[in-house]
Amino acid sequence: MPIATVNPATGETLRTFEPLTATGIERRVGAADAAFAVHRATSFAERAGLLHRAADLLEEDTADIARTMTTEMGKPVKAARAEAAKCVKAMRWYAEHAEALLADEHPAPGDVTDSGAARAVVRYRPLGAVLAVMPWNFPLWQVVRFAAPALMAGNVALLKHASNVPQTALYLEDLFRRAGFAEGCFQTLLVGSDAVEAVLRDGRVAAATLTGSEPAGRAVASAAGDEIKKTVLELGGSDPYLVLPSADVARAAETAVTARVQNNGQSCIAAKRFIVHAEVYDAFRDRFVAGMRELTVGDPMDEDTDVGPLSSRAGRDDLEELVDDALAQGATALCGGQRPKEQERGWFYSPTVLADITPGMRIHREETFGPVATLYRVADLDEALALANDTPFGLSSNVWTRDDAEAERCVRDLQAGGIFFNGMTASHPGLPFGGVKRSGYGRELAGHGIREFCNATTVWYG
Ligand code: NAP
Repeated sequence: MPIATVNPATGETLRTFEPLTATGIERRVGAADAAFAVHRATSFAERAGLLHRAADLLEEDTADIARTMTTEMGKPVKAARAEAAKCVKAMRWYAEHAEALLADEHPAPGDVTDSGAARAVVRYRPLGAVLAVMPWNFPLWQVVRFAAPALMAGNVALLKHASNVPQTALYLEDLFRRAGFAEGCFQTLLVGSDAVEAVLRDGRVAAATLTGSEPAGRAVASAAGDEIKKTVLELGGSDPYLVLPSADVARAAETAVTARVQNNGQSCIAAKRFIVHAEVYDAFRDRFVAGMRELTVGDPMDEDTDVGPLSSRAGRDDLEELVDDALAQGATALCGGQRPKEQERGWFYSPTVLADITPGMRIHREETFGPVATLYRVADLDEALALANDTPFGLSSNVWTRDDAEAERCVRDLQAGGIFFNGMTASHPGLPFGGVKRSGYGRELAGHGIREFCNATTVWYG
C-alpha cells in the first residue's frame, strides 16, 4: 500500500510519501535504543511534566489535527475533535496516575519471611523500545492509548502507523518532540507493512503492540513469538448488542444507532449484531431503522454530517460484498443495502439494517467494518447468549436489561473482554480494554495497560 494521504470523500490523492530506507530505519531504531538509556532513568514527575505539556499542545492543535484526520480517513470532523479531546484526557490521566499504578508491590510479610528474605518488593521496570503497529480508524487515539502509558513507564516508542494516515503519524512524532521528550523517545517510521518484521526482530526492539486486523496480528505475533518478545494484540470485533424484555427500548434503539455508526461504522467496538428478544423486537426494529434512516451521510468536513465515507475503496468494496452476499442468500434490507445515490465521488455506503440473517451468510461470522447492522430475533436469553457467543470474536458486548439476575447471567456467560449494560461500549483511560478469542489478548488502558510492557521484577534482600 503506498504511503499517502488520499481523501476518502473524493478519492483524490493529496500527498504521497517515500518510505524510509533501510538506513533511515536503522538510524531511528538506534536513536530509540539511545533514548531508552536516558528516558528510563527519568523520574515519574519529569515524565508527567512532559506528558502534561503534550496534552496542552494537543489541546491547542485540536482544530487543525482534527481536519487532518478527517482528510486522511474520513471521520466526521466533530468526531475527530472529540477524539483529540479524549487523547488529551488520557495523557493527563496517565501523567497523574502512572506513578501510583507502578508503585512497588509489597508481598505479604509471611511470604517474605517464608522466602528467607529480610525484605522483598516487586518493582515495575520498563522493557525498552516498543514497536506499535497501528490502524487508521482512530489515528490519534489508538496511538495515544499505547504511547501515554508506555512513555510514563519509561519505555520508548516506534510507531508504524497505517499507510493512509502519514500526516497524522508525523504530527504525533512532532507533538512529543515539542513537548520536550528526548530525541528518540517517540518516533514515527514511515514504512509499509513489509518492513515490520525486520524491525520487530531487531535486538534493540523489546516488544510490540498491534491494533488491526487478524492477518496483521497473526504476522506480528508469529515473528514476535519466534523472537520470544511480548505482544499485545487488539484485533477485530463483532460485538453483540442484546435487547431483552425489561429494556428501555426507546433508549436502546437510539443508542444502537450511535453504537453502530460511530466513526462511519469503522470501530472495533461498534455494536454490529443486534440480538433482540421477540417481546420487544418489533418496537426496537422500528425505532432503530427509523434512526438509521435519519442519519445525514455526506462530506465529513460538514459539521452536520453523521456518517462520512469509508476510509478506502477496498474497505467500501469489502463491506458491499458482505451485504450483497447476504441479500443474495435471502437477507432483507430494512434500510440501505447499497451505495447512496447522492454521493457520486468517494467511498460512501448507506446506513443499512439487515434482517433474516442465516448462519450460511458471510456476514453472520465476519466483521462488518462500516455502517451495516445485522438484526436477529430470539425467543429467550439462552438463545440470545448462544448467538452472541457464536462468533470468532470476543472484544466487547452490550446488554439492555433491568433484570439483575439476567445481568448476572450475562456477566457469567458472555465471551468478551467487556460487558456494557444499558449503554454502548466505549474506552476510558481508567478501565482496561481488550478482547478474548480472535479479538486478541492483553489489555490496554488502566493499570493493566501500563503493566503490559513492564518487567515485574522480584527484588529480594537477604
Ligand atoms: P490492518 O490492515 O491490519 O492494518 C493495521 C496496521 O497493521 C497498519 O499499520 C498496517 O500497515 C499493519 N499491517 C497490515 N498487515 C501487516 C502485516 N502483515 N505485518 C505487519 N503489519 C501489518 O487493519 P485495518 O483493516 O486497516 O483496520 C481495521 C481492523 O482493525 C479491523 O479488524 C478492526 O476491528 C481492527 N481494530 C481493532 C481495534 C481494537 O482495539 N481491538 C481497534 C481498531 C481497529 P499498512 O497500513 O501499511 O498496511
